[in-house]
Amino acid sequence: MVKERSAIFIIFGGSGDLAHRKLYPSLFRLYKSGYLKDHFAVIGTARRPWSDDYFRETVVTSLKESFKDDEKIMEDFAQHFFYQSHDVNDSEHYIALKNLAAKLDDQFDAGHNRVYYMAIAPRFFGTVAEHINSEGLKADGYNRLVIEKPFGRDLDSACELNGNISKAFPEDDIYRIDHYLGKEMIQAIPRIRANNSKFEDALNSKYVSNIQVTLAESLGVEDRGGYYETAGVLRDMVQNHIMQIIGAVASDEPEATEAKVIHRNRTALFNSLKVLSPEEVDKDFVRGQYDTDDLGEQKAYRQEDNVASDSQIETFTAGKISFDSDRWSGVPFYVRSGKRMPDKSSRIDIVFNDKVTDFGVRPNTVVTLLIEKVDGQSILINGIDYRELDQDFIELPTAESADNSREAYESLIIDILAGNRIHFTLWDELRSTWKYIDAIRQRWDSQTADFPNYISGSMGPDSSEMLLERDGNSWIWS
Ligand code: NAD
Repeated sequence: MVKERSAIFIIFGGSGDLAHRKLYPSLFRLYKSGYLKDHFAVIGTARRPWSDDYFRETVVTSLKESFKDDEKIMEDFAQHFFYQSHDVNDSEHYIALKNLAAKLDDQFDAGHNRVYYMAIAPRFFGTVAEHINSEGLKADGYNRLVIEKPFGRDLDSACELNGNISKAFPEDDIYRIDHYLGKEMIQAIPRIRANNSKFEDALNSKYVSNIQVTLAESLGVEDRGGYYETAGVLRDMVQNHIMQIIGAVASDEPEATEAKVIHRNRTALFNSLKVLSPEEVDKDFVRGQYDTDDLGEQKAYRQEDNVASDSQIETFTAGKISFDSDRWSGVPFYVRSGKRMPDKSSRIDIVFNDKVTDFGVRPNTVVTLLIEKVDGQSILINGIDYRELDQDFIELPTAESADNSREAYESLIIDILAGNRIHFTLWDELRSTWKYIDAIRQRWDSQTADFPNYISGSMGPDSSEMLLERDGNSWIWS
């Protein structure tokens, strides 16, 4: 049952790429499905002096790229959009925003609810949050702050950012987006575990040999070289997305589906991460940077726009993550992410060991959860679609098998409007994952890498294969 929601959205960075490519299409889907109908308005803010009409035109233009709908419905939707030019440091502008939000709240009867969305450069997050508070923008319904990644670039900067935003918003009103948590498969994992007790009972060090998480892209950095030079794949993919995927598979099954219990279990898992010593970093993590392809047709990373010709930034990493917990001690979590790999692939491979489980999972079974469906398939057992096999230990709950998949952002915005924080990242989780990542980053920053070291279209440097071979294992996706 769709429940109509009421809110005024204030989108900081309303003229930007994220807003146009992800947020407006997602809001439009919610409009078409009835979650948003009469009682909402969107204020886009950015520096440029746009009129409401011009802003609406930009919104409709970007919708036309993704939707075939009648233009009338897009125009009707766009009537809920308003523009306010704004500079993040100018207090006067926040007063103007406050007045416009109050006026639109009356006009649309929006329940005095506010969603403040930071689709803006991270260096502005703290300033904007503080101004929202000090200039009295908060209304007397709910006031929810939505923060995009990256949340800091190491533990110190994340602590500083968190200190700034938490002066203005209580933790319960902060929604830190990790869009992988909005993906259908990641959201289905807790239900798969709850509905398939044989599978759940086998998810521990007694039966699992290793777990592999792969987030591979076939593209290079494209036009994001400038950003990438400040990040690298370790910060861009491992600290957030890969860790949250591990959180979905490996945290203890919650005794209740409440956000607090789920977060408590996820935090406990991340607290049990075994932080690596410098010598362990050398042994357990490898890094790579792409070269041209074997025909010499594609640009090497160092030839991309806005990338230094001697860049030390990694575009590939593979590593072995270990936990110090009763459930997972001794089980390696092999993770891998890279650009210019042979295909786009997002998957979790759970490799069972040679013990016969008490619960029906056969020895040496590999269960693959495809985060992005491949040919309509989402779960594979030993490489075969689970629906074709005579087995009774794993099945997708019915809601997930229906073909009504939502875009990650759409699903996350529904959660924000409903006040459901399950699929967002808490500060305690971030603190532990940053601490883990910092140890690797610091070691790498103290050494010079021999880059480039893998050709475009390959599986990364050879050291990635060797990392598993050393333990008598191998990558399932190869
Ligand atoms: P963008 O550069 O396209 O847009 C930035 C927006 O901020 C623009 O609307 C710009 O006018 C506004 N802005 C810049 N300086 C300003 C100022 N002084 N005062 C007021 N407004 C100002 O960036 P983007 O790609 O949309 O990214 C926005 C945020 O989302 C960033 O934090 C980014 O890391 C994050 N993010 C983006 C994507 C994506 O797909 N684009 C994905 C994940 C996270």
